[in-house]
Amino acid sequence: MNKLVEKLYQNQALAKDELIELINCDKDTQEELRALAEKVRYENYGNNIFIRGLIEFTNYCKQDCYYCGIRKSNLHCNRYRLSFEQIMECCKDGYSLGFRTFVLQGGEDPYFTDDKICEIVNAMKKTYPDCAITLSLGEKSKESYKRFFDCGADRYLLRHETANKAHFEKLHPPKQTYESRMKCLEYLKEIGYQVGCGFMVGSPYQTVENLAEDLLFIKKINPQMVGIGPFIHHCDTDFKDFPDGELDVTLKLLSIIRLMIPKVLLPATTALATIDLIGREKGIKAGANVVMPNLSPVSVRKDYSLYDNKVCTGEESAECRNCLERRINSIGCKIVTDRGDSKNI
Ligand code: SAM
Repeated sequence: MNKLVEKLYQNQALAKDELIELINCDKDTQEELRALAEKVRYENYGNNIFIRGLIEFTNYCKQDCYYCGIRKSNLHCNRYRLSFEQIMECCKDGYSLGFRTFVLQGGEDPYFTDDKICEIVNAMKKTYPDCAITLSLGEKSKESYKRFFDCGADRYLLRHETANKAHFEKLHPPKQTYESRMKCLEYLKEIGYQVGCGFMVGSPYQTVENLAEDLLFIKKINPQMVGIGPFIHHCDTDFKDFPDGELDVTLKLLSIIRLMIPKVLLPATTALATIDLIGREKGIKAGANVVMPNLSPVSVRKDYSLYDNKVCTGEESAECRNCLERRINSIGCKIVTDRGDSKNI
């Protein structure tokens, strides 16, 4: 077996230059990485794949991330907000389909004040006390994060996007700072959320060295979840001419993360499914153990357009759920109806 794969498996850590070498590895080594990552996923979570019901409740956003299709400067974006009743309807559908985690994700939309978010979280928790609530609302003050947590939010997803400050500044306008993103992640941890960080693979200006820095950063903050997926261009952003992230690099990174943090929750993302017809299945075979199908009403799905050609925008939740089940069973795994809390505590 490749020495670095062996070392990573034994020590759950590698030095930066070793990580760079591993990210650049050939097909044979990638297969060794994959097989070990699959074994470690199995040892920690069996063949269980956790499903999270994603509710993309608003695509209004005050931020202007250069890569993102719902950034405020995109005047072609058809903006929408779900009402309180629509959000609760998504949960109702999701609950009956076996979802026990709801992920409320959206742009940074000032319309949804802290009071409104608390009202939604309170209602979700009261109606579905056996479910976990994950928020993914971007950067907020520590006080806001604490209020949501006190209302019953269990988890928070905030990708760090890149652990390299100079790279962060190439992906965001000056008013969105690296320091602020890092502070937010710190607050979330301090408050007691199960935290998810992550990054895009192949984002513009990213180097292999940056990817190694991302891995070291993730190892250091030891999150409960890590969301990674390929960067995919969006035709109405400044990054429209940049190439999309590569499948194999994404798969290698999933495997490395599984070996670095064996008990982490690792989604096979929609972006991965978008760049490859069986991207999700390949992600699971590479060590992922979470999928996050969409519960939003079909009428708005196409408008939550972070990148071009996003898959699964046309099917009803039940269809998505059944399709996923077939796909997951086809690779010897099974969907579980469970909150699916992280064992990395
Ligand atoms: N506003 C919240 C936030 O910033 O965390 C949640 C929504 S944001 C759109 C969710 C994630 O989408 C971002 O963290 C980013 O990594 C990802 N994303 C945005 N544009 C993308 C693109 N063009 N390709 C792939 N992923 C993208």
